[in-house]
Amino acid sequence: MFAALDRLPALGPVTGEPTFSVYNPSTGALLAELPDMGVAHTRAAIEKAHAAQAEWAALTARDRSDVLWRWHQLIVNHTDDLAAILTAEMGKPLAEAKSEVSHAAAYLQWYAEEANRIYGETISAPSTDRRMLVIKQPIGVVGTITPWNFPASMVARKISPALAAGCAIVLKPAEQTPLVAGAMFALAEVAGFPDGVINLVYASEGADVGLELCTHPMVRKISFTGSTEVGRLLMRQCSDQVKKLALELGGNAPFIVFDDADIDAAVDGAIQAKFRNGGQTCVSANRLYIQSGVHDEFAEKFVERVRQLSVGDGFDPGVAIGPLIDTRALAKIEAHIADALEKGGTIRCGGERIVADGTFFAPTVLTDITSTMRVAQEETFGPLAAIIHFEDAEQVVREANDTIYGLAAYFYASNLKRVWRVAEALEYGMVGINTGRMSSEAAPFGGIKQSGIGREGSRHGLEDYLEMKYLCMGGI
Ligand code: ADP
Repeated sequence: MFAALDRLPALGPVTGEPTFSVYNPSTGALLAELPDMGVAHTRAAIEKAHAAQAEWAALTARDRSDVLWRWHQLIVNHTDDLAAILTAEMGKPLAEAKSEVSHAAAYLQWYAEEANRIYGETISAPSTDRRMLVIKQPIGVVGTITPWNFPASMVARKISPALAAGCAIVLKPAEQTPLVAGAMFALAEVAGFPDGVINLVYASEGADVGLELCTHPMVRKISFTGSTEVGRLLMRQCSDQVKKLALELGGNAPFIVFDDADIDAAVDGAIQAKFRNGGQTCVSANRLYIQSGVHDEFAEKFVERVRQLSVGDGFDPGVAIGPLIDTRALAKIEAHIADALEKGGTIRCGGERIVADGTFFAPTVLTDITSTMRVAQEETFGPLAAIIHFEDAEQVVREANDTIYGLAAYFYASNLKRVWRVAEALEYGMVGINTGRMSSEAAPFGGIKQSGIGREGSRHGLEDYLEMKYLCMGGI
């Protein structure tokens, strides 16, 4: 099962260098010791990327596309190995890991295609002796930092548009889940990226590497996915150089079910939007608002489905929910439940750890939740669904928008007028209408308000790595 681990690059520490350990969150088993590369390696990686960037950008779009295609194909061919590594280091069920690897490959495919679709513009000049046009050029070296919850697809989603645009990259994966990134980079080497175009930095924590990426003048853009708190810090660190930033940060997604919704479809959607990846996604439904006419029916059917979700080691067949990433995550869920119960919430199922010493938590449903409870205000990031009863459609939209976040929202309704009005009124970067799942390489993923800056996926994702240059030709 772990044959793929033997083929990882740089798995053994360089003698004398500091190292850090990667563990399987399901079993606690040690998976690998990696070199803790730190600032000096990061600086060297930035310089290598800088040296390689101009030549990479000077290739034809078709040539860059060909390398991305080869990488895509290699990832597809190694899906089983990559998924096994992912499940081992992150814990998610193997079927979800395979689907994540396919999603990662899909980004590479999309941007291999999109590399060929970089267009400029000509403008009708206001005088006859001038010609005016716009060309697009790669932004330069991009520093990227990825989180542990989607350790394969985040890597692909961030770096494939940058590479397609002609940027060179330095990537620091999350310290909990660096192995699948390492395996993907090993495949990238086989795909034939020129030396220095893609660079991986393993590190036991983010702060030093992050500061170096933000303050090194050769890095022109930072692309980060993670907590809002770290996103704010990176923004501050980038401000002295007015460095560009792409940020995908936290969310607090509302999931609204109106009286005219198809309840069975809404229950299906809520299971997906809440429990995919054990609720550890930034687009996870965090607040389930259910209108009074369908509240009891929805709650009953939903709880029934949640009871059937089996929790365990991601390698065990039939497991729907793996472990939480660490004990800090566990403590947050427990704190949210305790706070809710103290303020009048009711546990309908779950509510406790599965085994005393692991990080497995029973999928939990709470009802009688109000907006003053922590569970309604903060991103839980775990298998805890909080149901809030509502009466009035306008009021629910106001409550849904009453947050600093603006990443994803979902709602179920059938009345066409309501569908349009609510979709337009929700202050979110993405709105799922009668669906609990909307991530796709073809769509612009990203948030407004304090959920982020920029978009990943689609043609808009490519634009984020291109600078616009206006050329004005006179004397014609
Ligand atoms: P989480 O709390 O879910 O782990 P973080 O935002 O802390 O979310 O982590 C996401 C990514 O950011 C990881 O790769 C982590 O190493 C990195 N990171 C954490 N702190 C910093 C920091 N101060 N500067 C740069 N990167 C950081």
